[in-house]
Amino acid sequence: MFENLSNKLNTAMRTLKGKGRITDVNVAATVKEIRRALMDADVNYKVAKEITDRIKDEAMGQKIVIAVDPGQMLVKIVHDELVKLMGSQVQGINLKSEPSVILIAGLQGSGKTTFSGKLAQYLKKSGRNVLLVACDIYRPAAIDQLKVLGEQVEVEVYSEPENKNAVQIAQNALEYARKMGKKVIIVDTAGRLAVDEAMMNEIAAVKEAIKPSETLFVVDSMTGQDAVNTAKAFNDRLNFDGVVLTKLDGDARGGAALSIRHVVEKPIKFISTGEKMDALDQFYPDRMASRILGMGDVLSLVERAQNAFDEEEAERINKKIRQNQFSFEDFYSQLQQIKKMGNIKDLMGMIPGMGQAIKDVDISNDSFTPIEAIIQSMTPKERQKPELLDMSRKKRIAAGSGTSVQQINNLLKQFEEMRKMMRMMNRVQDGKMKLPNFP
Ligand code: GDP
Repeated sequence: MFENLSNKLNTAMRTLKGKGRITDVNVAATVKEIRRALMDADVNYKVAKEITDRIKDEAMGQKIVIAVDPGQMLVKIVHDELVKLMGSQVQGINLKSEPSVILIAGLQGSGKTTFSGKLAQYLKKSGRNVLLVACDIYRPAAIDQLKVLGEQVEVEVYSEPENKNAVQIAQNALEYARKMGKKVIIVDTAGRLAVDEAMMNEIAAVKEAIKPSETLFVVDSMTGQDAVNTAKAFNDRLNFDGVVLTKLDGDARGGAALSIRHVVEKPIKFISTGEKMDALDQFYPDRMASRILGMGDVLSLVERAQNAFDEEEAERINKKIRQNQFSFEDFYSQLQQIKKMGNIKDLMGMIPGMGQAIKDVDISNDSFTPIEAIIQSMTPKERQKPELLDMSRKKRIAAGSGTSVQQINNLLKQFEEMRKMMRMMNRVQDGKMKLPNFP
């Protein structure tokens, strides 16, 4: 995401790199480039002008600091302005009342139902008893879709397929949630293809009836300036509490993320970066600014790793490494842990400098498939002792896994390298070997 904007901002700022000092002339040219980059990314004109005017003032005000590379300093100034624009602080959702009611609104196709499922899983992981409510009375398929997602994330779904009164369904669901001791209810509402009066009236009536502690507006970030206009229309009517930006994994130009907060004065609370249930992150303005400037998003990466991390399993594998017993069985289990963190390409995109580098590279979780197939085709004994693999065994495994003997040889070679490395690290840890001194 944001590759274009990152590129253009970097090019704009590069013109200042290596310049001894900031002058009126070079700042004016750079700021103009930055403004153009923002507008190309679909940032609202007024917003782009405001932010670049501030950047210019800041940059000019700092001309006495000779020690800092002006290019670097400008990156910092732009970063700080982007953070301010997107809201500075991370904003959680209000879950104080019990049950806490969260109302989900937005246009059809914006990703409401998908987000409802993701949010249910997110809140369930933090130990809350959640109920999903299907209030889209116009599309029977919408109820089924929510049910499928509910099953996937193991959260109960409340629906009344025969009832055509959204307000009533929402009220009944709330009553049911109270009776069942649910802590949070997430109400997925109907959307239309465009803003329309009847839709707004219905959601407003549902809101009035169930008094949510949190109304979230879901918007497709790929819709650019339209996203900002839709947000405005929904906010005028519903006075929502926060925004959810979806489809940031697509080639969104990023303008929505940058302008919405400023235009409706409501915080972005979550971002969604894929169709899978774990592709949801809280929105951190500073991390997003770093990402836009191509500085990577290491913190989100660490957070996802922590969520997927299974302490007992890590301890078990650590022990095996220490005893020089790391096997293909353990390797397989490690692969599964990595996959639990989400899509490999998304994850790699969060590493500084990687987003650009892997833009056109075709890597996906499917890249693991042949490796997994090979390991699955081994006998338990072979997994423990890969030395057993002679030509006839390799041929059997190749046939069983739909791979070639060469692929197996490659994997074995990599695996042996890995074990060699582990043995070496063990010897270093035991004090039997010293690492060479690096200058
Ligand atoms: P609703 O009509 O607002 O409930 O929208 P849906 O939840 O049905 O989503 C519409 C389509 O967008 C579906 O095909 C989803 O799988 C897809 N979708 C939702 N969120 C994302 C996202 O963050 N990234 C991508 N790539 N697709 C998404």
